[in-house]
Amino acid sequence: MSDQSKRTALVYAECAEGKLRRVALEALGAARRLAGDGGSVHAVLAGGGSAASPALAAAAAELAARGAGVVHVIDDPALAGFAPEAYAAAIGAAVAAVQPSIIVLGHTAAGRELAPRVAAALKGGHIADVTAIQVPEDGGADAILTRPLYAGKAFEQRRLLPGASCVITVRPNNLPVAEPVEAGSEGKVAALAYAAPPLWTTVRDVVRKASGRVDLAEADIIVSGGRGVRSADGFAPLEALAKVLGGAVGASRGACDAGYCDYALQIGQTGKTVTPKLYIACGISGAIQHLAGMSQSRVIVAINKDPDAPIFGVADYGIVGDLFEVVPLLTAEFERILATPGS
Ligand SMILES: Cc1cc2nc3c(=O)[nH]c(=O)nc-3n(C[C@H](O)[C@H](O)[C@H](O)COP(=O)(O)OP(=O)(O)OC[C@H]3O[C@@H](n4cnc5c(N)ncnc54)[C@H](O)[C@@H]3O)c2cc1C
Repeated sequence: MSDQSKRTALVYAECAEGKLRRVALEALGAARRLAGDGGSVHAVLAGGGSAASPALAAAAAELAARGAGVVHVIDDPALAGFAPEAYAAAIGAAVAAVQPSIIVLGHTAAGRELAPRVAAALKGGHIADVTAIQVPEDGGADAILTRPLYAGKAFEQRRLLPGASCVITVRPNNLPVAEPVEAGSEGKVAALAYAAPPLWTTVRDVVRKASGRVDLAEADIIVSGGRGVRSADGFAPLEALAKVLGGAVGASRGACDAGYCDYALQIGQTGKTVTPKLYIACGISGAIQHLAGMSQSRVIVAINKDPDAPIFGVADYGIVGDLFEVVPLLTAEFERILATPGS
């Protein structure tokens, strides 16, 4: 067996609004695979403020039940808002306690901000935006990590060498979540102290523009609108379809630039990168900058009046038609199917 089977991995378990993000459980699944059967897996949870403690306790219990051998909880008022210096120091405290060779974070806004800081402090490598991991079952060779390049037009495979220290971010929705371990095999939860560093900035206020919506980055289903929706009101049928499917609404930059929706919904090269199980593009032409953010989706459905629209080149299913006719028909049909017992 190589060193592959003896790795110690640490997961930064990101929370949003007091709840574990799904990508934290995907990162834990990746860490378990990379640590191998003979390795150990730790998780670090950080937060603070009056409502934080019960939420951290619940998140810690879930991580422990899904294969984190030790969950290190740092509950400190300095971590009430997201300050990269403070959160990097919190991960640093766990790194000092655990001495991992692999650190896994979600490839989220926070993960992207923290990972290079942690890698620099560790003097280790950094592999960002991993979408697939191959670990030989016998642990007899090094793990291979795959990441997209050039907005998904090429893929790079990186080999994780034995003994290397590396910080990895995993793209949401691409890797399986860590499965629960057998009852009785749950990990431990331990409080960890850390010294809050001086902060350069603090969060004064968080202004939510898209409250109550399913998080685009982690949505399984996205119904996305482009300039073809023609107005802000034109998004209403898309909202209705997304609601029936339990999905999120996204948009092209064309729709955002036209003022039909908020830039928080923009998907693409200069917007969010999404990889849902189902992406329904309505009235979106399929410019390369839009494809950069969604072409890795598992199933792509395109609805467009123009049979020559480039979006049909990446779509698994194409519907040539007027979105204002097609989308309500789909909504009604899904509503009917989902209301059928046993569906
Ligand atoms: C540096 C840079 C970065 C960029 N970043 C991004 C980015 O992150 N994300 C992004 O999306 N774009 C980005 N863009 C813009 C991109 O190039 C396109 O301009 C944009 O994606 C077009 O948006 P659209 O498809 O909604 O609009 P259009 O290209 O105008 O397409 C509208 C489509 O709707 C169809 N349509 C019209 N009416 C209907 C109807 N009733 N029913 C069905 N179909 C209908 C039309 O046939 C057409 O195909 C970027 C551009 C640059 C230069």
